[in-house]
Amino acid sequence: MSKIPPKLNTDRKFPTNMTTAHALCLKAKNGEKGNKKTKRYAVPAFNITHFQGVNAAFQAFDLLGSSGLLALSNSALKHFGEGDPIFGLEVASEYIAKKAARSSVKIATHLDHGDYISESGRKVVQASVQHLTSVMADNSTDKKAKKAMPLEDNIELTREVVDMAHPLGLSVEGELGVLAGEEDEDTKSEFSTYTNPDELDQFLQQTGVLMLAPTIGTMHGPNKGKPGSKVKLNIELAHELLKIADVINPEITFVAHGASTLYPQVAKFAVEQLEKMSDPTDSKQKWLDFVGTDWDQIEGLIEAGFCKINTDTENRQTFLSALLGAINETASKIDIRWYDKQTTEALTKSYIQKLIMAGNYGVWHEPKIDVKKYRFDLTRPLSELV
Ligand SMILES: [Zn+2]
Repeated sequence: MSKIPPKLNTDRKFPTNMTTAHALCLKAKNGEKGNKKTKRYAVPAFNITHFQGVNAAFQAFDLLGSSGLLALSNSALKHFGEGDPIFGLEVASEYIAKKAARSSVKIATHLDHGDYISESGRKVVQASVQHLTSVMADNSTDKKAKKAMPLEDNIELTREVVDMAHPLGLSVEGELGVLAGEEDEDTKSEFSTYTNPDELDQFLQQTGVLMLAPTIGTMHGPNKGKPGSKVKLNIELAHELLKIADVINPEITFVAHGASTLYPQVAKFAVEQLEKMSDPTDSKQKWLDFVGTDWDQIEGLIEAGFCKINTDTENRQTFLSALLGAINETASKIDIRWYDKQTTEALTKSYIQKLIMAGNYGVWHEPKIDVKKYRFDLTRPLSELV
């Protein structure tokens, strides 16, 4: 490992309308929209798990002129590839590139929670460098020993990814600190540790990452606290960490994982549907118990300079609510496309809502819908909401 990490090669030409996650995040941190300079906004990373999810996201980006960030986790890649994450990576990235070529905005594709610790994780990261525009190098947790990875090891493993990805023009997101909660079977931890400011300088200098996910109190998954409780993020620590990073390089951007904020109208809709069908699986209480992060907390992070916010749970919930609604509307329509359309349109509505909340619209062109008029509602078609 040489002393100075390789700089991100910004001359790399990606397929039409594709760029790195870092390029989109830096624009957001600097408040750049078209030729204008506005206040800071954020780029929500949408976790994509099926082709309709890609379609829904592109529809939302194109309607709003947003920067688009599609995140692919290990388990999503396995799903796309029927168990083979490398094949999943090939087909998903090919599909996204073809959609991007027809799009009106710029898109980044990002490996979510790629690790360089396990043999299988390493293979996925190496293949992602060939197919995506950005990768996460999450080496912050020693999952076997159930403890935080020692700083030196995290630095060394992350630096290996930077050495491989930066010369090819891909941005790399590192993680420092351990995030609690469960995102999927590959990403879960029973404990959390805040990012230690004393370690940040060394981590950033020696890895050379331009994107960092610190831990400041967010959590993965739909249950971010006891029912009825509120998530309290350590915004003070967020400011302190950003100050340290800005001194090293003002182009370093921060990422909030576990930033899902739940939509009350989605939970209400799901509960109504479950009641209509007499809640056959006793699921109502689970819906009532979900705890997300309040949006004002996330807004505080965006103002501080966090410009990638990872949101997944609320989109999954929207999908499931819409499916319950579709089945309640009719369970005798023998047409896959109809149920598909209901869930895909619901996802589009959810994505639009999150993009507007994050201020990520009018970046590549003026929005095609009236942003101020938009109301997220699962009971009405999208065409009536704008
Ligand atoms: Zn995450």
